[in-house]
Amino acid sequence: MNNGRSKGGKAVASTMDPAALAAAEAAKVGLYIQQDGLFRYVNPFLARQFGYDVDELIGQCGPLDLLLADAESFRLKARGGAGAEIGAPVCETVARHRDGSTFPVRIVGAPLTIDGQPATAGTVFDLSAQRAAESRIRELADFDALTGLPNRRLLLDRLLQLIAGAEREEAPFALLCLDLDNFKRINESLGHSVGDELLCAVARRLGSATRRIDTLARLGGDEFILVMPGANAAGAADLARRLLDACNTPFTIAGHDLTVTPSLGVTTYPQDGKDIETLLRNADVAMYKAKEQGRNTFQFYTVEMNTATFERLMLESSLRRAIRNGELTLHYQPLIDLGSGRIIGVEALVRWHHPDLGLVMPDRFIHVAEETGLINPLGDWVLGEACRQAQAWIDNGLPPLVMAVNVAPEQFRQAGFVAAVAGALAGSGLDPTLLELEVTERTVMTGAEINIGTLAALHRMGVKLSLDDFGTGYSSLAYLKRFPVGKLKIDRSFVRDLELDPDDQAIASTIVNMGRSLRLAVLAEGVETREQLALLRAMDCTMAQGYFFSRPLPGEEIIELLHRQPFLSKE
Ligand code: C2E
Ligand code: MG
Ligand code: MG
Repeated sequence: MNNGRSKGGKAVASTMDPAALAAAEAAKVGLYIQQDGLFRYVNPFLARQFGYDVDELIGQCGPLDLLLADAESFRLKARGGAGAEIGAPVCETVARHRDGSTFPVRIVGAPLTIDGQPATAGTVFDLSAQRAAESRIRELADFDALTGLPNRRLLLDRLLQLIAGAEREEAPFALLCLDLDNFKRINESLGHSVGDELLCAVARRLGSATRRIDTLARLGGDEFILVMPGANAAGAADLARRLLDACNTPFTIAGHDLTVTPSLGVTTYPQDGKDIETLLRNADVAMYKAKEQGRNTFQFYTVEMNTATFERLMLESSLRRAIRNGELTLHYQPLIDLGSGRIIGVEALVRWHHPDLGLVMPDRFIHVAEETGLINPLGDWVLGEACRQAQAWIDNGLPPLVMAVNVAPEQFRQAGFVAAVAGALAGSGLDPTLLELEVTERTVMTGAEINIGTLAALHRMGVKLSLDDFGTGYSSLAYLKRFPVGKLKIDRSFVRDLELDPDDQAIASTIVNMGRSLRLAVLAEGVETREQLALLRAMDCTMAQGYFFSRPLPGEEIIELLHRQPFLSKE
């Protein structure tokens, strides 16, 4: 610590005002007075900060001796005029502890006069905690807290650099968007902590399948982006296959063996987009295409994909508004008992009166609602409105009708579904036995164990259940017996060509017989002609629905229809 200066600068503590001295001694910040480069006073806190006794410092050395030898570091960030003299108002630098360790400090100096000579009073702040917090903030700002992967911000930053470089050198790169199939279901059925662990495990496997120069980022949820500098289409396809392979073996999380498959969309620069936004959007489009193609696969972006996506995006944004603005209505299609020819119920079918597009049919927007999660608010509205209408008819003196309501798979699996049904019933006062929920085989069969719980809860409430579009799924009799289902609805596709196609006849009559042996009602959908009806009656099908009886109608017109029944003369 010997710096060649004359030692022995006198301690000034004895000349200080006792109250000021007491304050300085108690201060929880490092304080000193220096003159001619040597300390004339240091408080105990400062001595402790640096690992010395007070006496070892006073008159022995000065502030410069306690800083990292590199004078440059001292000048670093010094603000307060030319150079960074001790006594410059503020400087940030690196201090050296007696044990050799270093730590960042801020030194604030103020000029003084002692014994008629210039001196400096200084305050030393240890910045370690602040620096640690800053670096944590930077980390949070750039990295995903769950998986530790770069986040959207850092990804965009790297992409910007890559594009800037690629423009100069015409270097291609590929961008890959990856989304896990059915991840939401795992999250909802096994809980978010399992979902989180799974995401980390997936991130690790994906990471190990990529090259060091690639950037794997998580955009949130189960969406990952991989940027591959220098990769062309062939290289990207290669890597996409490797990523699919990486997820091939099940993940073991909290005792569960979980299979997750990714769907991937690939874009290449500059063919599929010259800016980040376009590349990301087109990769997303290709990824959705991969999902449509049956998942666990990858797709390259093509221009044609964009028209379909445009409609999806347009519908998505206006569908949000539709639910709020009351643009949705329900039409009701009668369900006919073939024995009496009377209407025993109606099926509620949603319609969207779009301000620009006019009437939009559900086949065009239900899947958009399902993909975007809007199916929950939409489904809740349908349930509430259907129950309200059914009870309003009863209040107007009409005979009670069964109200059949379609339930989408996503909606059925959401945690609050049973409560939503109970809410719709309570809100309207409708007898639960007059509500029939139509679910498809696909809905109840996937994740059968979880669904049985939901079905049983609904059954206990008295709500009826029917299997819609029956025959298009893969129901086995064994499964059917486990579900508290009261009705099978033969899918329209088997009824359409019933007169012409012996296979359809065989399927329809098999379903009717199967229903009878399981004591289930069987309803034929899409009956349009007298001939179809005659064939179905000959099979002993008990119920029907279709244009032959009535198209779906607004609520008011159903009332008129009820006055015109029965539909069938005794034939
Ligand atoms: P779905 O549940 O199988 O409903 C029967 C569909 O067949 C209805 O189409 C109906 O209008 C149509 N249909 C009825 N009889 C005939 C006929 O004789 N010939 C022909 N060609 N078609 C007939 P819509 O209203 O377009 O609904 C289509 C699908 O959209 C429904 O199929 C259902 O899966 C879904 N959907 C409708 N409303 C809702 C809803 O509120 N929520 C949910 N999740 N899905 C709904
Ligand atoms: Mg239906
Ligand atoms: Mg159907």
